This record gives sequence, C-alpha cells and structure tokens, in this order.
Amino acid sequence: MIRFEDKKNADESRKRRAEIASKYDFLKVTKKTIRPNTIDERLSFEVEDGWLPLLEDLFEKMATVVKRDNLAEFQIVQVKEKFGGLRVYIHNGNKDINDLISAAEAKAWVTCEYCGEPGECHSFGGWYITECDVCLMIRKLDDNARVWGDLDDV
Ligand SMILES: [Zn+2]
Repeated sequence: MIRFEDKKNADESRKRRAEIASKYDFLKVTKKTIRPNTIDERLSFEVEDGWLPLLEDLFEKMATVVKRDNLAEFQIVQVKEKFGGLRVYIHNGNKDINDLISAAEAKAWVTCEYCGEPGECHSFGGWYITECDVCLMIRKLDDNARVWGDLDDV
C-alpha cells in the first residue's frame, strides 16, 4: 500500500497508536492476553489508520463503563480487521461493553479503513476491504502498477 510505504506517515501512525494504547489500562498486555501483540507492552491495533478515530471513540466510551461498573478485570485482547470488518476481542466485559463493540463494528462497515471517509465493503482480488471510492481506485492503480512491474521483470 502506498500510504504505509511512506516513512513519515508510518512514523506518525506508530506514534499515534502508541499514544492511544498508553491512555487506557485495559489495553495493557498481561499474562491473560491470549495473543500478545505489543507496542511497549500495550496492545497494537491490526487495522489501517482510517479506523483509529472510531477506536478512540470506542475506548473512551468503554472507559466510562469500566469506571461506572467497576470492571477491574476488563481487558481488550485483540483489535483487528477480518473479512473487511472490525473485530474487537475482550475478556471480562459486560453487556454494555458488548453493545459498544457492536456499534463500533457496525460503524466500521461504512467507514473507509484507510482514510476514515464514508465507505463500503468491496471484494477485490480475493480480499474484502471496507473503503471509499477514492482509496479503492488508488489501490487498484497500485495493484495494476505491481502487475506491470512483474511483467517488466519477465
Ligand atoms: Zn478512503
């Protein structure tokens, strides 16, 4: 992908993710975490940048529920993209936490994972990706360029 080959953008993205992860104790990786995938012992987010605002909003709402319901053992164990959708896996949540996750996952289905603009899930080259028309076009051009590059090597 073009965006992630740009070093400055990648550095900014890493910094932003680390900032988000350091804000909440329920993103801290503990022995209970099934799949440790860490930035400084905090959970990383296996999604593109367009979904980060959606996650920040989710975590902020979760923090309110955690405090209100005293969910000391609550933990997020994984955040990822799967088949074009957002997946958030947790331990020791409750119904309100589950409802917040469902709402965030529903919002992700209509939010471009790359830029955060309104989007929809597209199937392309065997992959499901939720994105806007512009990002879809950029990715198709990118893929075409790669195909022509391969042909040049033959
Ligand atoms: Zn987009």
